[in-house]
Amino acid sequence: MSRFAGGGTGNYGQCVPLEGGVILDVTGLNRVIKIEPGSALVEAGCLIVDVERAVRNDPCVKGGQEILMFPSTRDIATIGGFIAGGYAGAGSVRNGILKDASNVTMIRVVTLEETPRIIELKDADIQKVHHAYGTNGIITQLRLSLKPAVDWVHHIALFDSYSDALRFGCEATEAIHKSVDAFLITAVERRIAPYYESEFGDRFPANKDAVFSMVNPNCMTAWRALVNKHQGIESMAFTESQLKSEKLSPAFECAYNHTTLIALKQDKSWTNLQTVAPWTPGVGIDIALVEKQMQRWGDEVLMHHEFGRQFGGCVAFGLPLVSFFGKDRLYEIIAEFEQDGCMVFDNHVVTIEDGGMKEIDTNQIDFKRIADPHGLMNPGKTRGWLPEMVCP
Ligand SMILES: Cc1cc2nc3c(=O)[nH]c(=O)nc-3n(C[C@H](O)[C@H](O)[C@H](O)COP(=O)(O)OP(=O)(O)OC[C@H]3O[C@@H](n4cnc5c(N)ncnc54)[C@H](O)[C@@H]3O)c2cc1C
Repeated sequence: MSRFAGGGTGNYGQCVPLEGGVILDVTGLNRVIKIEPGSALVEAGCLIVDVERAVRNDPCVKGGQEILMFPSTRDIATIGGFIAGGYAGAGSVRNGILKDASNVTMIRVVTLEETPRIIELKDADIQKVHHAYGTNGIITQLRLSLKPAVDWVHHIALFDSYSDALRFGCEATEAIHKSVDAFLITAVERRIAPYYESEFGDRFPANKDAVFSMVNPNCMTAWRALVNKHQGIESMAFTESQLKSEKLSPAFECAYNHTTLIALKQDKSWTNLQTVAPWTPGVGIDIALVEKQMQRWGDEVLMHHEFGRQFGGCVAFGLPLVSFFGKDRLYEIIAEFEQDGCMVFDNHVVTIEDGGMKEIDTNQIDFKRIADPHGLMNPGKTRGWLPEMVCP
């Protein structure tokens, strides 16, 4: 078995086989099995957009429901691929990350044994297969938590400096669940604006720094007051259906790894990094440090931050564009981020541990002994699996 194919959008080389073998396409497993108030039982190969559509339209809750988070690849990625390879996305600033308790409450796995078994992992046990890159069981079904649907306003606010955009982002993130409500908050600096120009024009001009967000229509007054407080100006405020008639992409497709994708479509010399900046509660990230980094790297590194919540606190994920001048230079920049106290999830490596996780998750390896005793699934993607572990 080489790997499992959902939508094939996973990064970190998750889907790239290192050895020959068989590719199992799970996109035929695409039923939304049951929708109830607060949860949906779905098959792993469902496109996330189809799950979202189904829960929004299901009458079991008046006004519909919505899933708690999705990657910026919502329209082409599967829900199983997101759980097996993803981490966070649009929605995370409101609801936390995939790993946070009760966002996903059940995962059904089929084992790769002579006689396959079905195992249902519930609550904390889902961590045994979440973000394991499909190395320890074929995910066939999942139970996702839902919340009442909101017709989010896709919003752009423009600022006179990237620091102002970040200050706004930090304050808005802290204010969620208190005085404002948003599903996405993304800061993109002005040097990235030219890549957005053909679509957004003056909505994101090259002399302003932008914050893309998805805002609850019920809190627009408070949101606009916060934008004003940071000397920002609103350049777009559309619901998803209004965006369609304006032929504009939704805000979440201007966020997360889509920012890099938008730049890469026009200039193949970019790569990116994924970092986490330390967050001081009540304050946010160290904006003076970001200013220092921008000065240090000049046009080699262009800044983009995603605001989120994880493990009960606020967080800012950095997804800067980095000019690729070679491996040595890339790793110098990574070392400089780390010296600055920023954690780097290295997306230029292929194992789970060398990327975001940093250490071997023994629970995942123990589960692999049960679900994939012959070590056939996505070989080479976890350092925790050793040849001597293969069941004879
Ligand atoms: C432009 C772009 C933007 C992105 N934005 C985000 C983002 O916002 N947040 C985020 O977390 N990620 C993001 N990603 C990464 C990726 O799109 C998501 O994680 C996505 O959800 C993966 O889904 P997929 O169906 O494409 O999975 P695939 O790429 O097909 O698979 C991903 C991994 O999961 C395994 N897998 C797939 N299905 C199963 C299954 N049924 N059982 C067991 N293992 C399985 C595969 O073997 C592989 O290791 C982005 C990637 C790109 C290219």
